[in-house]
Amino acid sequence: MTGAATTYDDYFQRALDGLKADGSYRHFAELERQAGRFPKAYHHGMGREVTVWCSNDYLGMGQHPSVLSAMHASLDHSGAGAGGTRNISGTNHEHVELERELADLHGKEAALLFNSGYLSNWATLGTIAARMKDCVVLSDAANHASMIEGIRHSRAEKQIFRHNDVADLEARLKALPRDVPKIIAFESVYSMDGDIAPIEEICDLADRYGAMTYLDEVHAVGLYGHQGGGVAEQRGLSHRLSVIEGTLGKGFGVVGGYIAGSAALCDFVRSFASGFIFSTALPPMIAAGALASIRHLRGSQDERERHQARVAYLRAALDRAGIPHMDNPSHIVPVMVGDATRCRALSDLLLSRFGHYIQPINYPTVARGTERLRITPGPLHSTADIDDLVAALAALWQEQGMAAAA
Ligand SMILES: *Cc1c(COP(=O)(O)O)cnc(C)c1O
Repeated sequence: MTGAATTYDDYFQRALDGLKADGSYRHFAELERQAGRFPKAYHHGMGREVTVWCSNDYLGMGQHPSVLSAMHASLDHSGAGAGGTRNISGTNHEHVELERELADLHGKEAALLFNSGYLSNWATLGTIAARMKDCVVLSDAANHASMIEGIRHSRAEKQIFRHNDVADLEARLKALPRDVPKIIAFESVYSMDGDIAPIEEICDLADRYGAMTYLDEVHAVGLYGHQGGGVAEQRGLSHRLSVIEGTLGKGFGVVGGYIAGSAALCDFVRSFASGFIFSTALPPMIAAGALASIRHLRGSQDERERHQARVAYLRAALDRAGIPHMDNPSHIVPVMVGDATRCRALSDLLLSRFGHYIQPINYPTVARGTERLRITPGPLHSTADIDDLVAALAALWQEQGMAAAA
């Protein structure tokens, strides 16, 4: 190895040592998911099967028979990859069908697929905020990194409004010139606290002050609304949003991201967004799997009902055991720990002693002092799974001298 290379590696290593010293270094669990056995998975580090409690495959659609058979059929029919970027031979029939389905799901004229939800936020906000002259983006303080990076990339003026605070948002809108383009960027279900935005009030403000609305429904699509169209669908507000953005990788159980909006907006992003144009399209089998998942969830209430019932059961069991968890109206159950080292220790003990896998959520994903175990129970967790988890948490809470919930 050359001297220069060693110096560079020293730099990388020092930065990593810094992460390790403050407890924010990320350790990956090496899992082997086993279709048909979700939420169980084989944990290679532990050499045993564990129960997964922190998956964003919220409804278990990643093992759903109709999704798997659509993917097998498409793989056999069309082969492995798309064959190119969307513009250069990569647009397969499945992509077009999926975009039509997504537009219909959200009651919009059009939709546009991306290789991930991250990319859809980054590319869409990055493109429209950059290209509309004097555009100002009003961004919720708790927005996801993909929106933040897209806004940053656009170099447009950004104003961060207090999380879910319509008064702060209105004061900022009021202070801006009437004729500059404005985009309000926010989420429906926030992934770490599980709280939900006041979507209707934000749409009212957008109308009053002439702003566009950009709603990230990543943690809601598939899960909320009569057809799985998200919280906007559930509240009858889909038509009031300029853009609804979602993922195919969480509730829908596959991978990919999208926006749904007007035909002009989607065509604009299709035509100007570098992150859309210059990247190989998703494999047709992915589009086929996502399409099967969406169609299934549009027609079936079963997964959503069982999901909500499991969430309610877990919350009640935690309450009985005195385990403090953040109250919210969604399916995300944050068990509050409040200390990075302790959070990791609890996670390690849950895994090694009880076979329950919950990734600790520490800074910088959440603020210091709010470290937590973020639990996402799903329709495939049994009552016995939940009872067993809560008993394990209760045992650890007592053993570690942790405060019980009031
Ligand atoms: C996960 C996530 C994304 C990114 O979606 P992917 O499909 O995983 O890239 C976007 N927004 C929010 C709020 C997320 O939690």
